[in-house]
Amino acid sequence: MKYIVFDLEWNQSPNGKRYSNERLPFEIIEIGAVCLDEQLHIESTFHRLIRPAVYHWIHNSIHDVTHMTLEDLADGVPFPKAAREFLRWCGTDYIFCTWGDQDVMELQRNMRFYNQLSLLPPPVLFLDVQKLYAIAFESVDTRRSLQHAIDYLGIDHGEGFHRALEDARFTADVLMRIPQRLFPLFPSVDVFQNPQNRSEEFHISLPTSEKYVSQSFASREKAMKDREVSSTRCPFCRKNARRVIRWFSSNGKVCYSLAVCKDHGELMGRIRFHKTEDEQVFAVKTIQAAGPAEKEEIRRKRELYLQKKK
Ligand SMILES: [Zn+2]
Repeated sequence: MKYIVFDLEWNQSPNGKRYSNERLPFEIIEIGAVCLDEQLHIESTFHRLIRPAVYHWIHNSIHDVTHMTLEDLADGVPFPKAAREFLRWCGTDYIFCTWGDQDVMELQRNMRFYNQLSLLPPPVLFLDVQKLYAIAFESVDTRRSLQHAIDYLGIDHGEGFHRALEDARFTADVLMRIPQRLFPLFPSVDVFQNPQNRSEEFHISLPTSEKYVSQSFASREKAMKDREVSSTRCPFCRKNARRVIRWFSSNGKVCYSLAVCKDHGELMGRIRFHKTEDEQVFAVKTIQAAGPAEKEEIRRKRELYLQKKK
């Protein structure tokens, strides 16, 4: 499997939000990507400038960061062509790698605008290099800028930040320094193309966990009443594990539970809710083996929940 490390630059409405196109608030103007082989060696690179079709002036904040002008983009290709060429270049056996989770989402939003989403069927899995960097070098919950990571790792960066190919190269430089054994343990699942019905729901089996993305429901309460959403199946044997702490939420956005599989021990369940564009909700559930740290986290959150309830 190849690693496609990519970065996008995008433009937005130069006249503020009121004049923004709701279906395309961020118009992609540059794609840069690096393809790494399984040993993380650079195999090839991809770069396209994209001629804007929606916003015909570069927003000041974008110009300040990328130093790109409309003249630079005049020779670019239309987005649909760039997206087709990019995906053809990616091949068939690859995983996307990006700094943070926004680029994978914006790529799809731009593709949807041009009715191209069939080229990238869900579920779209990717490695969030920002998250992997945090796990490998700092702590799970920190989120650093790419520049911070490059400095921290002592990678020489000269002047070049905030152009797509340079940033893709820097992201690849960071990825190469992260222990590769972490990659299969922490893939992210993008939910821009969330399931529309039961048959489209995703179940993704990972070495030590399982992820599930549900169809949408009218409310969180309705979602939690659904048996598939609230089930706690062991990711190792797929049998139903007995819940010892029932689903609870200390902040309304994330629910936790603790279950026990008689063959594989304790399991932590986490459900995060996302809103759809039509104000419905869908659940992203992860069930994973619970070590001492996870158990402690659940107990602490449950204490908080019980205190709040009082
Ligand atoms: Zn089991």
